[in-house]
Amino acid sequence: MKWIERIIWTLALMAVAGLAYIRFHYWNSTRSLTPGSIIPEQTFNWVKMDRFFQIYDIPDTIFSLMQGKSYKDNCTIPRSDLKYLVFIHRNLEGNAVVGEMVVNQLIATDIIEIMEQLFLKSYPIEKARLIDYYDADDETSMRDNNSSGFNWRFIKGTDKLSNHSTGLAVDINPLYNPYYKSTKRREIIQPQTGQPYLDRTADFPFKITEEDLCHALFAAHGFTWGGSWESPKDYQHFEKIEQ
Ligand SMILES: [Zn+2]
Repeated sequence: MKWIERIIWTLALMAVAGLAYIRFHYWNSTRSLTPGSIIPEQTFNWVKMDRFFQIYDIPDTIFSLMQGKSYKDNCTIPRSDLKYLVFIHRNLEGNAVVGEMVVNQLIATDIIEIMEQLFLKSYPIEKARLIDYYDADDETSMRDNNSSGFNWRFIKGTDKLSNHSTGLAVDINPLYNPYYKSTKRREIIQPQTGQPYLDRTADFPFKITEEDLCHALFAAHGFTWGGSWESPKDYQHFEKIEQ
């Protein structure tokens, strides 16, 4: 009977080694998550979810990308107050896409926890790339429905710094959740291509409402939503202002 035992042991060892190899392969494949890339679904059978939701100090490569774009010469917020987030989100097709965002360290954990819950519940976010890939031009980024956080900039038409300047505000699916302000002289819609989505009674994808998961998660983490402001209306915008 001994030879049978030997065969069984050999097969069992081979199976264990095979499974360990597969697990290592998938774990290794997530070592450097490339923003914009799609994670194959089978990866989630082998790799713990935490691995896809990471907070980093701003890496040198990212900081040099930000120079003169989101991080301008007159920027007064120190690099050490900002964090670089890497996470995954579901797009409308249901794919798991790698996203990235720079935010203030004070909300880094909030955003990672919110992104993880949005991912687990398949809440669609089309794109989350650094605004520096759009030359830190908010209008271009919003037209591309790109979700983003930190950007050292003034509120359009004013000399007032936006809350994105401290990295304490994030914009989610901005094309479908535009900014709107009406003054005596003019109407401001941002992005301009978001005009059809100012009709909040209409039904369309990516629409943030007071009843949806995105709003609920941000509210639970102490953020206010620009969609609940009287004027301006900023449906894409969530901010957490530390008292
Ligand atoms: Zn905003």
